[in-house]
Amino acid sequence: MDEFTLWHNHLGHPGISIMKNCKHHIKGIPAELIAKPLNSCQGCAQGKLASDPFHASDKWASAPLALVHGDLLELPNESYCQHCYVLTLLDDYYLYNYSSFGFCLYLHNKSNTLARFTDWLANVEQQCGCMLKTFHSNRGGEFMGNEF
Ligand SMILES: [Zn+2]
Repeated sequence: MDEFTLWHNHLGHPGISIMKNCKHHIKGIPAELIAKPLNSCQGCAQGKLASDPFHASDKWASAPLALVHGDLLELPNESYCQHCYVLTLLDDYYLYNYSSFGFCLYLHNKSNTLARFTDWLANVEQQCGCMLKTFHSNRGGEFMGNEF
């Protein structure tokens, strides 16, 4: 590997114009470093690739509450009502049949997740007349307790 490529990789794959000027601004880079075209850099090529799309699934829940997806997100800022987290719950059956159907439960603390989920579930099971069969999460710590 030549010295230019080594520095290019070390600096995080900057473009050619930055590579031409970096020797004037960064100590330790040799003054005689000659910039060359970056057409063949594998790291730059991989950095420009878009990720693969998610493929549509042909498997959907066949009944309400047969499969519910849940995730807990931390809000970037505390809400006006001092909520710091939001628990999102999406019923797979309604996602397929009605294009969007979900719940957002706002929480003050992460430790309230189980209590809010339990309240929501009791309410939804009563309205639907059926029981939750499968809960799908990212297995975050808030969903890993024995009670969940
Ligand atoms: Zn590169």
